[in-house]
Amino acid sequence: MPILDKVLIANRGEIALRILRACKEMGIQTVAVHSQADAELMHVRLADESVCIGPAPSTESYLNVPAIISAAEITNTTAIHPGYGFLAENADFADQVEKSGFTFVGPKADTIRLMGDKVSAIAAMKKAGVPTVPGSDGPLTDDDERTLEIARKIKYPVIVKAAAGGGGRGMRVVHNEAALLNSVKVTRSEAAAAFGSDVVYIEKFLQKPRHVEIQVIADGQGHAIHLGDRDCSLQRRHQKVIEEAPAPGIPEDVRAEVAKSCVDACIEIGYRGAGTFEFLYEDGGFYFIEMNTRVQVEHPVTEMITGVDIVKEQLRIAAGLPLSLTQDEVTFNGHAFECRINAEDPRSFLPSPGKVAHFHAPGGLGVRVDSHLYGGYTVPPFYDSLIAKLITYGEDRETALARMRQALDELVVDGIRTNTALHQDLVRDKSFQSGGVSIHYLESKLERE
Ligand code: ADP
Repeated sequence: MPILDKVLIANRGEIALRILRACKEMGIQTVAVHSQADAELMHVRLADESVCIGPAPSTESYLNVPAIISAAEITNTTAIHPGYGFLAENADFADQVEKSGFTFVGPKADTIRLMGDKVSAIAAMKKAGVPTVPGSDGPLTDDDERTLEIARKIKYPVIVKAAAGGGGRGMRVVHNEAALLNSVKVTRSEAAAAFGSDVVYIEKFLQKPRHVEIQVIADGQGHAIHLGDRDCSLQRRHQKVIEEAPAPGIPEDVRAEVAKSCVDACIEIGYRGAGTFEFLYEDGGFYFIEMNTRVQVEHPVTEMITGVDIVKEQLRIAAGLPLSLTQDEVTFNGHAFECRINAEDPRSFLPSPGKVAHFHAPGGLGVRVDSHLYGGYTVPPFYDSLIAKLITYGEDRETALARMRQALDELVVDGIRTNTALHQDLVRDKSFQSGGVSIHYLESKLERE
């Protein structure tokens, strides 16, 4: 007997295929839901059943809650896996799924809500002993004197952030007192318009941090473990480009301490499922910025160094089973990288949808390709441009990187433009090769060239 009878995959592209693979391995029936533009997706062909849930625009399909719930009803689904993006961190969707009698593969709706509001998330983390960025410890009020006083205490530069912000939007860096009150005002009104909430807060703006995150899994039954860290500092416009695990050059005691604080926090908030604590790391210190309550794009690098299948763990937890391993049973071996291959111009970064004339995936020892591409597939213009994740593993960082250089050279995607050339350049970049570049490294490199 499978642990769940049937899972509906409320997503598309590579992550839908990733989830389908885990389900198949576990003997779970699969339902693919897709837009009218996505009937030719790889996982739709492989799924046991498929349902078209609406026209191409995601607001009418992948974000269309009633259509997804109806699809679950007519297919007699047991559980719904949201993947990442779309409805994955939508607490109302999680509520709706459970109210309709299905299992949501993820945390409780209240947990998603708690973490979706950055002010409440930071407060919860602080209470649980997770290190946070020095800041206003709560929303700013109408009291301008108080706001000025808080910033003086933290010292400039500071960053004004919207509590409901996301996707790198809703924040503003302030370098001096003269600009503070106006920046608060502008961020407030932008936040109200974009996120429907004008709650803002401030924190210290760290100048050259790295982005380091901790992967956790918790069963919601009092057990939680961490699967170590990842460095995702190579970013452009807050979008991650290359990730690796473990994060290089972090003292073992510092690494262990922050990971433990995340596990403690999971127990404290009654966390259930897979999750990621995102931190900025600067001068040997970790500073929590937010928690993602879902599986992440970069989860494979963690799977490569731990051997734990994170999606299978998610499904087990959703079925009410306890974690399949204890912290002592988690072992860390070697190093892994992930390059996000996007259908975009490597220089202008403009999306490049269209028909893939020919696709050749690299291979060999330590090479993993998570991709829904195949020759003849047409990348639609409506969604995210991620078309493949190239993941390499090695017994050490150097080996994993050498394999990535070779894998990128073997990759062929004809017919559309991809950012492969950018990756080929980055994996040969001296600073990146040394490890530990800051979140600004890629953008300043692009500006220089
Ligand atoms: P979002 O939910 O929009 O992704 P985050 O709070 O995760 O927002 O911040 C996104 C990015 O903004 C971070 O990865 C970092 O690059 C930058 N950032 C956020 N807070 C700070 C800070 N206090 N100091 C420096 N950079 C920051």
